[in-house]
Amino acid sequence: MAKIISGKELSARLKAEMAAEVATFPARYGRVPHLAVILVGEDPGSVSYVTGKAKASAEVGIRNTTIRKPATITEQELLDIIAGLNADDGVDGILVQLPLPRHIDEDRVIAAIDERKDVDGFHPLNVAALWQKQSCTLPCTPKGIVKMLKTAGVEIAGKRAVVIGRSNIVGLPVSKLLLDENATVTMTHSRTRDLAEETRRAEILVVAIGRPKFVTADMVSEGAVVIDVGVNRDPETGKLCGDVDYAAVAEKASVITPVPGGVGPMTICCLMENTIECFLRRF
Ligand code: NAP
Repeated sequence: MAKIISGKELSARLKAEMAAEVATFPARYGRVPHLAVILVGEDPGSVSYVTGKAKASAEVGIRNTTIRKPATITEQELLDIIAGLNADDGVDGILVQLPLPRHIDEDRVIAAIDERKDVDGFHPLNVAALWQKQSCTLPCTPKGIVKMLKTAGVEIAGKRAVVIGRSNIVGLPVSKLLLDENATVTMTHSRTRDLAEETRRAEILVVAIGRPKFVTADMVSEGAVVIDVGVNRDPETGKLCGDVDYAAVAEKASVITPVPGGVGPMTICCLMENTIECFLRRF
């Protein structure tokens, strides 16, 4: 039976450490970090993520302003709000909750955020810096995954890592971070021929697809480390589940992350860390 990495427990510990640090900021810097979150529309998933971010901010002592706008907002109105936050010296981090309504160009919106306040690490300048191994704000989910691996004592250097999914927010950046940790990385996707053959070679398998229980036990080698990024509804039970068939894969893996309570809480934890980093860079 695999060792379970609890993102819930690890993030609680890290948030407590951050809270102790942030408590010293008013005396040292005159204020606490301030995160502005923009929520467009009322998509239930987005509402719940934004609520989670506000709750974590409160736990850490970060000031959180959530700006809620209707789905009918124009792109220009949204860009104007971002321009106002960019110019506001009292705001350290800006996050636009994705996805945005179809009439708004997400790339244009992300590029409009001052890259020094881009706590998600999605701005093209931060992405370029990541790929050039320069200092930057790292995207939260990949950052949280590497933190989980390290905390669990997983040796990454020299390992065969396989990533399923090549999205800008998870698959691509986590592949780069694993490469930077000296893993030998294989990136796979929907056009990969014989995916199971690739995944069975993985000593570290990161799954970010968005399909419930897609990775079955026969796709995983004995003793593999399995990181499940997926957040899905199980079509049978209606409960939250990952991209990995957890019960069966946990029998074979040496280390595994659960859903819920795995990568998700670490993503929010890293968002808090990024907000503090953006704040500190200004002093
Ligand atoms: P995405 O943008 O939809 O990308 C999905 C990726 O999976 C694509 O690269 C796609 O390949 C690949 N894929 C889809 N079907 C596949 C198949 N049958 N075989 C192999 N590859 C396949 O998704 P995302 O934004 O990366 O998110 C992935 C999952 O992680 C979702 O469930 C999302 O909710 C979750 N997520 C969780 C967190 C967290 O904090 N826990 C954060 C972000 C995302 P192609 O490129 O070829 O289309």
